[in-house]
Amino acid sequence: NIQLCHFREGDSIKVFVRVRPPDIRDNEVGSKRVVDVDEGRKAIIMQSKPEPKLFTFDQVADIHITQESVFTAVGKKIIEGCVTGYNGTIFAYGQTGSGKTFTMLGPSEDADNFQHEMRGVIPRGFEYLFSLINREQELHGERKQFLCRCSFIEIYQEQVFDLLDPASTGLHLRENIKTGVYVDGIVEQAVANYSEAYQVLNAGWLNRRVAATSMNRESSRSHAVFTVSIESKEQKGGVQNLKTSQLNLVDLAGSERQKDTHAIGARLKEAGSINKSLSVLGNVIMSLGDIAHGKSRHVPYRDSKLTFLLRDSLGGNAKTHIVACVHPGSRCFGETLSTLMFARRAK
Ligand code: ADP
Ligand code: MG
Repeated sequence: NIQLCHFREGDSIKVFVRVRPPDIRDNEVGSKRVVDVDEGRKAIIMQSKPEPKLFTFDQVADIHITQESVFTAVGKKIIEGCVTGYNGTIFAYGQTGSGKTFTMLGPSEDADNFQHEMRGVIPRGFEYLFSLINREQELHGERKQFLCRCSFIEIYQEQVFDLLDPASTGLHLRENIKTGVYVDGIVEQAVANYSEAYQVLNAGWLNRRVAATSMNRESSRSHAVFTVSIESKEQKGGVQNLKTSQLNLVDLAGSERQKDTHAIGARLKEAGSINKSLSVLGNVIMSLGDIAHGKSRHVPYRDSKLTFLLRDSLGGNAKTHIVACVHPGSRCFGETLSTLMFARRAK
């Protein structure tokens, strides 16, 4: 006797659910596994009382999935789209500790026990992006040229910080009729290959860690947005064909509710604003789903910094993948359920 939660087909937003392996704490606190994966039915089953709940998604992955398979599932199509001129966004959503950073970034390349095959979606995305660009270059030679620029920001308490320029503060989002929404005064680093892009990523990530300690910008409460702007110029029969697109790679703030009821002042405000921008993201995604099913809806992009910044990459012709990360243990039951509910709204 299973309670079914079904989803609508055919959206431009795809949802992938990844269940991470249990961790040491599960043994310590006797946390049992309560999340099952049915790959055939593309379903996640929660062992809830009085009956199990079954949620279906576009794709689901159990604890042993490789980083490569995750990239193939959520990254390839988006990057292929970006090279041909479509905007794309990949989000990692979930509670702190559910594997968002592991999924997007993987372990640091500077870590002692770094293993190449553990790299996450972002470095693999760079590699694939430049392999596609190189192939285009070989096909078209001088007639086609690409220019890639990277930026990396953090959104914390609805404030925008440039991770490539740690001295900057309180940056503003602005709108340009031609190029869309952008961050005013942001560093855009031109990159020509994988290792240059990786260096930008690494530098920004380091600044994020520094800000976490020196400025108290706790990274589990902030959104990190890495953007690659891709511009291509093609000479065709005497005319120049210019295309631009954006690839956004987003490690979202932890989705958990504030449990500490004693939190006052700054901490409470902080918790409130995180919940706000994640809930606005949920509303935006839900409105887009309605539009895809023929309803007319106002999409509340402007209600948060994150959704306004990503406005031109969410909906329309843009492609979006959400990786909803969940923990399999009973100690995370409530948060896992709320992550699955969020992910379901995207359908
Ligand atoms: P989050 O970013 O959601 O807070 P992390 O990605 O930092 O979570 O994951 C928490 C810890 O669990 C990290 O040490 C990470 O390396 C590990 N981890 C997460 N997902 C996996 C996985 N699929 N396989 C192995 N280790 C993982
Ligand atoms: Mg993280």
